[in-house]
Amino acid sequence: MIIILKPETPPDSPDIQKVLDVAAGFEGVEARKHLVEGASRSLIEVYLIGATGPVPTEAFEKLDCVESVVRVSEKYRILGRHKGQVEAVGFSYQGLTFDQDSLHVLPGLCAVDSRQSVEEMFAGLKAAGIQTSRMGAYKPRTSPYDFQGLGKECLPYVFELAGKYDIKVIAMEIVHESQIDEINEALDAAGSPTGVLLQVGTRNAQNFEMLKVIGQQQRFPVLFKRGMGITLEESLNACEYVASEGNRNIILCLRGMKTNLGDPHRNFVDFGHVPVVKRLTRMPVCVDPSHSVGRKEPAPDGITDIQHVTAQGVIAGANMVLVDFHPDPSKALCDAPQALTVPELAPYLEDIQIVREAYEKRRALAARYPIS
Ligand code: PEP
Ligand code: MN
Repeated sequence: MIIILKPETPPDSPDIQKVLDVAAGFEGVEARKHLVEGASRSLIEVYLIGATGPVPTEAFEKLDCVESVVRVSEKYRILGRHKGQVEAVGFSYQGLTFDQDSLHVLPGLCAVDSRQSVEEMFAGLKAAGIQTSRMGAYKPRTSPYDFQGLGKECLPYVFELAGKYDIKVIAMEIVHESQIDEINEALDAAGSPTGVLLQVGTRNAQNFEMLKVIGQQQRFPVLFKRGMGITLEESLNACEYVASEGNRNIILCLRGMKTNLGDPHRNFVDFGHVPVVKRLTRMPVCVDPSHSVGRKEPAPDGITDIQHVTAQGVIAGANMVLVDFHPDPSKALCDAPQALTVPELAPYLEDIQIVREAYEKRRALAARYPIS
């Protein structure tokens, strides 16, 4: 059950305690308070978890501070879009809004290999007016003999340089929960010049114990990459593990599915699921064209497959693009064939702009002629 409080209720209001007290009166029910911060409004939701079947909604509806009570028996209790529930408000982080209307592009290194690569990448982003990036420090590799990432050793200069080049948010994968502490410490030591989106890689999509620990911290939002060999429903349930532990600032990233039916692409592109995830949940949706396609040769029209699938995601309403770049792909230690280069950034962004405008026109058209 979700109890949505009136938007004017302040986070420290004694009225919230009244809601929690009523919840405490029901055996086997646990109440968790969550502040939902959106671009246009913030509100507080209280999630009741456990044996909520016998709990009457009226017990909460009669409280002055309660806007509505949603009985959720279906899937995706916290992240789902349920009948009667407020709009997908999303969240703010580092002064940026992440919701189902926003669009952010996060170009950066698949794997950090040197201070110089990080600096050249961030300088290129600053010149292009981009404040969001990706930087892989911990790399989950198929072979134990491949480069595993520089780990915590690179964090001090990644964060320092992010500050220097005004990068506000960096998507960074973790492969073990202990790395959250390493990131916390390095960020504090650097004076918190940037923010981190904790990335859960496709290989950890059902690492439930790690997902729970990620959900128990509030400092970092989460970029969850869909499991490459499981159903969409299973991936959305995995996101619920994070949300049910208290952190519902999650973005779901589509990155292609593992099957040789997608050959010659690295994975079978699944960006047709952008509107599906937006309909089923309140999460913003990211697309990763690099790990979907895996290579950057152009089609006869001169447009690379990476750009084509980026456009497919953006025209379907994607809210974020996570994409591999490298100042010198010949020196990249991970996924070199799919890395775009810094001079390719400006036209890549312009292409996205064209498609985003087309999406906005399509949305306006759909609003004029709604299909029921
Ligand atoms: C990545 O983004 O660096 C990555 C390893 O992606 P995925 O988990 O989708 O394979
Ligand atoms: Mn990669």
